Amino acid sequence: MNNKLRIATLGIHHETNTFASNPTTMDSFKVSGMQTYAVQRGQQYYDMHELSQTSMAGFIQASKRLDFELIPLIFAATDPGGTISTEVFDTLGGEALNMLREQGPFDGVLLNQMGAAVSEEYPDMDGELARRVREIVGPEVPVAMTLDLHANVSQQMADETDALVIYKTNPHTDAVPRAHDASDLVVRMAREKWRPAKWLEMPPMVVGIFQHDTRDMPMKSVINDLETVLAQPGIVGGSIGEGYPWSDVHENGLACYVLHESSINEAKKAALWIADRAWANRKELYEPVGPTASKAVKYALTQAAAKPEDSGPIVLLDVGDNIGAGSSGDSTFLLAEAVKQGASSWLQTVRDTEAISACLEAGIGNNVTVEVGGKTDSLHGEPVRLSGRVTRISDGRFEDSGTVHAGWRFFDGGTTVVIETVEGPTVALVTTRVGNMSREQFYSLGYRPDDFDVVVAKGVVSPLPAYQPIASELLTVNTPGATSADMSSFEYKRVRKSLYPLDINAQYVHD
Ligand SMILES: [Zn+2]
Repeated sequence: MNNKLRIATLGIHHETNTFASNPTTMDSFKVSGMQTYAVQRGQQYYDMHELSQTSMAGFIQASKRLDFELIPLIFAATDPGGTISTEVFDTLGGEALNMLREQGPFDGVLLNQMGAAVSEEYPDMDGELARRVREIVGPEVPVAMTLDLHANVSQQMADETDALVIYKTNPHTDAVPRAHDASDLVVRMAREKWRPAKWLEMPPMVVGIFQHDTRDMPMKSVINDLETVLAQPGIVGGSIGEGYPWSDVHENGLACYVLHESSINEAKKAALWIADRAWANRKELYEPVGPTASKAVKYALTQAAAKPEDSGPIVLLDVGDNIGAGSSGDSTFLLAEAVKQGASSWLQTVRDTEAISACLEAGIGNNVTVEVGGKTDSLHGEPVRLSGRVTRISDGRFEDSGTVHAGWRFFDGGTTVVIETVEGPTVALVTTRVGNMSREQFYSLGYRPDDFDVVVAKGVVSPLPAYQPIASELLTVNTPGATSADMSSFEYKRVRKSLYPLDINAQYVHD
């Protein structure tokens, strides 16, 4: 048994919104809404994922199936947010690389990255980490990197690894099978001393957030094209990077990546075929559609009044305060409209530690008047004055063993308080920026979103696995904020000079 391959896994997993006002510091890595421990080392990295549906869960399963020894080094992941400090990269990256150096030699490395990490020093932090990993293990040791579909894939990421493997679904429900794919590739490379030929093609275009669901056209057609390529003889892998729009980096945009058994020309040909077809469809792939907050709330209340009692809630997706994309979680555009328009059966979260303190002081069962939300910056509306009774106080932890975006299981919203307001809405005040990705967030507080007329989910696609099953209707609302669907509302400085739709006349030239 001592001839088992030893394969290390490590990851610094972050989706960085370079327009968000909350920087990602070492403090951000003390807690994470997405998982119980923001930084997990050794066995803890293993244990926290074994029962989930994350990439690491897939690596664990693959290690049993393919009979290799998986050595968990470190996994650091915190909620999407602003630019990562130099200290974070030096500290956590440094620790990861020391572990890789000290616990080696290894026969392979599985990098567990999100793919849109930006640090103060390195706009392509994932690529820089891969470069440093390569420096340590050398050219002979295969390195594969798993990535979220929202990765902004760089040439450096492609160059410094032997394979990139990206989720194919949004909502992300295939982290496990993609981790199996990455493991298969690394094991074959290690055993056969083989390397695939790879090609990364990046047409200068951005896929709009309203078009990110891979189950719907037009994004579905890009994934279909990928599947067509993957079925061709000689193709041994391939991925699409949907891109992460709120990142001011050179590689912002769509990526088409193909691995061939041996021919770089064949890999390139296939990647270009996908890229050309996506480019021809660029207008359909970027369209900021959807009603304003005011119109959406009016529509939702009208629909709610007409719908049968037992039909599920109307779920309003708050695009501008997409927590899963790094927003503040305290936007009040929808809440303010709810109050203004007299919504009486309305459920949502707002991140607000100040209001929580006031509620804790009042105590459970007592009445409070608090200014809620809109406190992080000037992008997410004004605080809304609410009066009501404090009905729940909780530590904010919850678990979801069902299908959750990216396979997360153990969540931590920090101290959480619910107030039932005289204005109408029921508001769960949370401490961390935990996304609305699981209904357990409310069930664990004793509230059933199923029974409300209107529920707000801050996000676009990540809330869908949780809310699609119960919603009578889902409505994507074009709210302002750090994750606005309208790219022209941000000032980009580092993206490619001619990038569609920022440059409506962008040209895609290749041989
Ligand atoms: Zn994603």
